[in-house]
Amino acid sequence: TNQTYDDNNIFAKILRGEIPSHKVYEDEDTLAFMDVMPQAPGHLLVIPKQGSRNLLDADPAVLAKLLPVVQKLAVAAKEAFEADGIYIAQFNEPAAGQTVFHLHFHIVPRREGEPLKP
Ligand code: 5GP
Repeated sequence: TNQTYDDNNIFAKILRGEIPSHKVYEDEDTLAFMDVMPQAPGHLLVIPKQGSRNLLDADPAVLAKLLPVVQKLAVAAKEAFEADGIYIAQFNEPAAGQTVFHLHFHIVPRREGEPLKP
């Protein structure tokens, strides 16, 4: 993408510890924390520590470390929230619904018959 990374975004502030978050996983390259406006119980966000605006401008080496963590946390969330399935979402640029401009994957536990919040 021709857009740039701005480290004033809210997830960059979470990474720097400037604003609080409910962290559920952290390693050298990756952080996961609960979404403040969950679409369903257990909705969490997984982000790389490296600053990427979104998937379109991410370094493939960053993605290679991130996706196994997304998988591990999806499995853990399915178990912890006794979910029937796991919805994973990821938006790129405002036209597609991106509101925070630091790459993130949504992990949302889903249960049969439980609609997503709008
Ligand atoms: P997206 O950019 O993928 O549309 O959504 C950004 C997500 O970040 C939303 O689900 C929103 O609820 C979440 N979010 C926005 N601000 C904060 C925050 O300060 N803390 C946390 N934990 N989540 C946030």
